[in-house]
Amino acid sequence: SYDELKKCTNNFSESNEIGSGGYGKVYRGMVPSGQVVAIKKAQQGSTQGGLEFKTEIELLSRVHHKNLVGLVGFCFEQGEQLLVYEFMPNGTLRESLSGCLDFGSDGFFGWKGIGGGKSGIHLDWKRRLRIALGSARGLAYLHELANPPIIHRDVKSTNILLDENLTAKVADFGLSKLVSDSAKGHVSTQVKGTLGYLDPEYYMTQQLTEKSDVYSFGVVMLELVSARQPIEKGKYIVREVRMAMDKNDEDQYGLREMMDPSIKSLANLTGFGRFVELAIRCVEESASHRPTMSDVVKALETILQNDG
Ligand code: ADP
Repeated sequence: SYDELKKCTNNFSESNEIGSGGYGKVYRGMVPSGQVVAIKKAQQGSTQGGLEFKTEIELLSRVHHKNLVGLVGFCFEQGEQLLVYEFMPNGTLRESLSGCLDFGSDGFFGWKGIGGGKSGIHLDWKRRLRIALGSARGLAYLHELANPPIIHRDVKSTNILLDENLTAKVADFGLSKLVSDSAKGHVSTQVKGTLGYLDPEYYMTQQLTEKSDVYSFGVVMLELVSARQPIEKGKYIVREVRMAMDKNDEDQYGLREMMDPSIKSLANLTGFGRFVELAIRCVEESASHRPTMSDVVKALETILQNDG
């Protein structure tokens, strides 16, 4: 109940706040069973209310997969909308990648040693491959096995969380269509998603398909190899990598320029090249040229096998 959830987060105290997003604030709490949870508390007006919302959340709470952040409960009482998720102790993929990168005062990328995120994790190449594969499996499940199928609509590195074993779990699936247009971080009236990850074809045509998630996932893959954000200093990662690929020099110098230095020494260059090629296919302008999520899963499995 609402009062119980209030208690287990210490009245939604600031010290238990772990983040905020389009939906509202997120708090850490411990439920009576002893399980540590993340509780999302909707900001007033950030979501559509009513029966449709409740039905949708009930559906989401029935979706289970190893690579999806489980919704363990929800509560609609006293005018509040609360969603209770399993707690992911290693935070978001973005936080782990951002620890690697630093900016020089000259405005150029610079690297300050081997990176570690908020929790000091260093994601080596092998771990990054596993994270990509795990999140791809979660998305393929949503697209092909969930009943009814679910299009995520907001795939990004802040929606990929890492559990205690650094297993990737996709968060926030099915939520973005419930978030109202005014909520921060979301794009416009009908089209929903986050700038830098947004499928250009969906943006133009407003026709939403699973392939929009594939596009966004391709951007996440490019973040995994470069540790850069989708848009940095006004530059789009997708365009930058395409340009690097087009140089097409024999020793792939252009591509290596894009590579996160903290994985440079470890990555098998063949696997790296295949990974980037796969990412580039995911971010094709035309949705019909992109692979499906289960194609991506298969391709990543092959890369991972050959890499180790
Ligand atoms: P956004 O709308 O930007 O995706 P969210 O509202 O989903 O943001 O989450 C905000 C922040 O709360 C995340 O960046 C993350 O740090 C934290 N967070 C969300 N869900 C969980 C969870 N299940 N476990 C741990 N931390 C979480």
